[in-house]
Amino acid sequence: MNAGWDVVILGAGIVGAACARDCAARGLRTAVIDAAGVGGGATAAGMGHIVVMDDSPAQLALTRWSRTLWLELAEELPPEAEFEARGTLWVAADEDEMHEVRRKQQVYAAAGVATEILDSPALAAAEPQLRPGLPGALLVPSDGVLYPPCAAGYLMREAVRMGAKRLDPQRVIVAKHGRVQLQDGTVLLAGHIVNACGADATSLIPELPIRRRRGHLVITDRYPGFVNHQLVELGYLKSAHSLTTDSVAFNVQPRQTGQLLIGSSREYGAETAGINHPLLGSMIERARSYLPQLGNLQAIRVWTGFRAATPDKLPLIGPWPGDNSLVLATGHEGLGITTSLATGKLVAAALTGEAPAIDPEPYFPARFAQSFASTEPQHA
Ligand SMILES: Cc1cc2nc3c(=O)[nH]c(=O)nc-3n(C[C@H](O)[C@H](O)[C@H](O)COP(=O)(O)OP(=O)(O)OC[C@H]3O[C@@H](n4cnc5c(N)ncnc54)[C@H](O)[C@@H]3O)c2cc1C
Repeated sequence: MNAGWDVVILGAGIVGAACARDCAARGLRTAVIDAAGVGGGATAAGMGHIVVMDDSPAQLALTRWSRTLWLELAEELPPEAEFEARGTLWVAADEDEMHEVRRKQQVYAAAGVATEILDSPALAAAEPQLRPGLPGALLVPSDGVLYPPCAAGYLMREAVRMGAKRLDPQRVIVAKHGRVQLQDGTVLLAGHIVNACGADATSLIPELPIRRRRGHLVITDRYPGFVNHQLVELGYLKSAHSLTTDSVAFNVQPRQTGQLLIGSSREYGAETAGINHPLLGSMIERARSYLPQLGNLQAIRVWTGFRAATPDKLPLIGPWPGDNSLVLATGHEGLGITTSLATGKLVAAALTGEAPAIDPEPYFPARFAQSFASTEPQHA
């Protein structure tokens, strides 16, 4: 046993690291425990696209705020975080998708997010490797890219500098009612416990409405200038929306190293880190259909990671109805790198009672209260 913490954060991925930084900044006695190192899990597998998304007003509010926070932090980030405001190009394949370009522009404009519509010649000039004849794209110039594990490492170092304690790696086996039990039998006492365990959050709270959604990424050798922006097909939205089927979409990112990250795939029901070769083949074929010369580049590594998917595509951030000591910071699916900084602020606000910059309610786990029909007694 120990004297107790104001807050123990479970998980040192980018979300846990962001929570630790914000809690420590508010003077909370903060401890962080992870089964492995900092910035592992999905954070090590993610693409690092910092992107404003508009699937729902709540998603738009969270991603927009968090992107602003990243842009503010950019100056402070160390070089190894490789932050660059590359901009996103949402590429339209046909006239239907050009309608979507115009709709998206209006939604973003209403939210104060600057964008620019590129017509066919402007798109070809911006990205000469794209197949000829594409009708246009929506450019979101202030979207960024970064290298997530190093960004998480920076956030954790900042948390420690502000007083947080990083505990030696240990798996947490039970965390409820203000008690965190580690695999070696150690028990930590805490006023609050923040579950930031990503797709593994259900190992501690099995009733959470989270499904593991596997994704593949490929990285190439160095080809500086091959593409200039994060390129995403508008059809990506259909892929990300699908709640049942496996899907792939064209999503290519230029890294500061000159390498290209090629994504992406979405799969439910896959429990191992192994490669699904047919799905990987479709993903690469999809990318080649937009960038015909991609097939001439050398791929050097393929990996997979698990997104924590919720039924309504919004994360679970805030108090957990089944236990007064528990706060959730999970369920970020494919946007947890982007939304980590806003999540840290929402969690700190929930713990201190301060008013956050956006309405926190759409992300409250209580929206799934029925699925939380907890067998546990309420914490006194
Ligand atoms: C292929 C792919 C591409 C992606 N691309 C992007 C992108 O471009 N932009 C974007 O915004 N997001 C992207 N994402 C999503 C993003 O990577 C995740 O949402 C984000 O990394 C989640 O961070 P996290 O800290 O919540 O979880 P994780 O990074 O998974 O961290 C959870 C931590 O909890 C620890 N843990 C779990 N259980 C326990 C336990 N019982 N005891 C102790 N520790 C435990 C783990 O060791 C791990 O370190 C992508 C994801 C994938 C898979």
